[in-house]
Order: sequence, then structure tokens, then C-alpha cells
Amino acid sequence: MEKFELMEQFGHEQIVFCSNKESGLKAIIAIHDTTLGPAIGGTRMLNYTTVNDALEDVLRLSRGMTYKSSIAGLNFGGGNAVIIGDSETQKNELLFRTFGKFIEGLSGRYITAEDVGTTVKDMEYVKMETKFVTGISKALGGSGDPAPVTAYGVYVGMKACAKAKWGNNSLDKKKIIVQGAGQVSQYLCEHLYNEGADIYISDLVKSKLEKITNSIKATVVDPKEVYTIEGDIFSPCALGAILNDETIPKMKYEIIAGCANNQLQNENKHGKMLLEKNILYAPDYVINAGGLMNVSNEREGYRQDRALKNADGIYDILTNVIKISKQQKIPTHQASNKIAEERLKRIGRIRKIYSGS
Ligand code: NAD
Repeated sequence: MEKFELMEQFGHEQIVFCSNKESGLKAIIAIHDTTLGPAIGGTRMLNYTTVNDALEDVLRLSRGMTYKSSIAGLNFGGGNAVIIGDSETQKNELLFRTFGKFIEGLSGRYITAEDVGTTVKDMEYVKMETKFVTGISKALGGSGDPAPVTAYGVYVGMKACAKAKWGNNSLDKKKIIVQGAGQVSQYLCEHLYNEGADIYISDLVKSKLEKITNSIKATVVDPKEVYTIEGDIFSPCALGAILNDETIPKMKYEIIAGCANNQLQNENKHGKMLLEKNILYAPDYVINAGGLMNVSNEREGYRQDRALKNADGIYDILTNVIKISKQQKIPTHQASNKIAEERLKRIGRIRKIYSGS
């Protein structure tokens, strides 16, 4: 599809193609919407097969960030970047510093962070050339690992779902099946365990499971079994697209609430399928917004207590999403999209007021 048509279809403001022979950098920065503030979002490094694949990915990701920032009540817009290349073999200081120069050239319209294929270390090279980067290590004054705040947001979001489903937000004795025993899961399981939940956990990597089962009581289940086990809550904390034609018909849980990104393989189709099965789905970008709240806090001088307080707000945000979904009989992800779009419209109106600066 022609590039301007794509921008129009997704509603983007700006796409920047960055190329540099010396460093081998080939990157695309997409700024979707800056109504609420500077665009924020990670830099993904992947060996995309074609430039068009990279472009489509960055357009989709940056648009998603607009919705995530908006629903989270943050004063940031949506943006994302992709670097085309192999993150195992093609990374070096020059590449990321060159990329930093391009970000600096945008004068703050886009603030980057780590994402799939990039690390805190890479962002530290970016920071040598621009201040418009977040997710830096604590040692350098940054926010460090976002997982504790993401996990806390998922935990309170789960409680909001419990309240909506069962009239009580307690997770005591609830059977919760967690998919993935990674960074976020570790912290999430601690919260769930402390509240008396009955945890079932799966991962492909034994050592990750052991890390969790060494500190809390949890039953390990085979990764293939997670979709067929009966339980109260399923918490996807590993992969995207796990809510699909194959898995949804097997599911016997009442709530789905986890941190993984892009859980619905097809937003409209699978969101509707879950609604029809009366499974309450916490939209991923709402319940995992703690990670964004964490990095965005870094812009004001990072304090974890403030980031956690922000993440506490996910309880009310999700309660409202569920309320609108029930009132309008629409899937929860549609309800959250509506709320995010409405905030963009409302706050956008402030721009019309001349305040003298
Ligand atoms: P992670 O890589 O630390 O953990 C993911 C875990 O899932 C790994 O242990 C991996 O072995 C496991 N896994 C992979 N395939 C699996 C399968 N089929 N069955 C069971 N386990 C499997 O990642 P993370 O930082 O904990 O993030 C988890 C998800 O949440 C990702 O989708 C990520 O994009 C999303 N997310 C993370 C954050 C954050 O703060 N880290 C914020 C927002 C969203």
C-alpha cells in the first residue's frame, strides 16, 4: 500500500526513515498521535523480511501506544521505532548512537525505550546522543526494570475483574493459571501467593519455573495443558495471539487477565468470542500499562512509589472499561478503545485555547 495511504488509514502524523552507511543503521520511527504529549514507545530490533513488514509493524505498534497512553491517563502520545537488523549479531555502540542522533533531531516529538530485541544497555548508548530516551538503568538515574510495576498493575487489574465478576475483589483460594514464568510473572505470583491464590504455572524453561516454585507454593503444569485446565482466572504472561480460534473454545475460566501484549489474535473476532462465552477479558494494553507508567515516570525524576501509585489506578480504569462493556454490550477491548479515543478528543480541545505561550 502507498505510504501516505497507510498513514491515513492508521491516522499517523509522521514517519521518519533513518539510514546511515557507516553504522549500517536502517530504522523507521513512527509518530502516531501527539495530542496528549510527546510520542512515547519502544524501539524494536528485528530482522524483518521486507521494509514493508517493518513499516507495518511500526505503524501498528505506535498506534497501540497512543491508546495505551490515553487510557492510562498519561500525557504522552503514541510512537514506536524499529531497527531492521539481527539483534544477536548487528548491535554495537555506533548503531545505537547513530539512532540516538536521529531521535535527537526530532526535538522531543518522540521518546524511545527498550523493546523486543533491544536492552537497557542499548538505550544507554542512545542516551549518549539524546535525552529523549527512557528505561535507563537505576545506576544512571533511570527507572530500571519495569516488571515490578507492570506486575503490580496486573495484580490490581485482576482484582478489579474479580470484583466485577464475583462481587468481591479477593483472590483468596482462586485457582489462577499463569502462562509464563518470566520477569513480570515472578512479581505477579508473589502478590497472588500473598493473597492466598492457588497458583498453577507453566513455562518452557525449567530454571524459570524453579525460580518461582523455590520461593512460593505453585503447581507446575505442562505448557500444552494451560488452555484445557479448569480454573477461575487465566493469566497470559508470555506470548501474544494466544486467544484464537483454537484456544478459546477449550477455555474453562471466568476471567483472562495477564501482561502479555497483543493477546487477541484477531481483535474483533476473538474479543467477541470471549464475550459470547461470558469470559471477562481484561484488555492487554489496559492491564499491562504499569510498564509504561513506570518509564513515563522517569521523565519527572523516577520514584517507584509514584509509579506504583499510578499503577494502582489500573483498578479504576479497568472497572470503568468493564462497566462500559456491560452497558453497551460490547467486548471489553472495544470499550477501552472508545474510552481512549474519547479522552484524546476531549483533551485535544484544550489545544484550541490560546494560553499565551
Ligand atoms: P519474559 O521474557 O521475562 O517472560 C516470558 C516467559 O514466557 C519466559 O520465561 C518464556 O520462557 C515463557 N514462555 C515463552 N513461550 C511460552 C509458552 N508457550 N508457554 C509458557 N511459557 C512460555 O517477559 P516479561 O518481561 O515477563 O513479559 C511477558 C509479556 O508481557 C510479554 O508479552 C511482554 O511483551 C509483556 N509486557 C511486559 C512488560 C514488562 O514490564 N516487562 C510490560 C508490558 C507488557
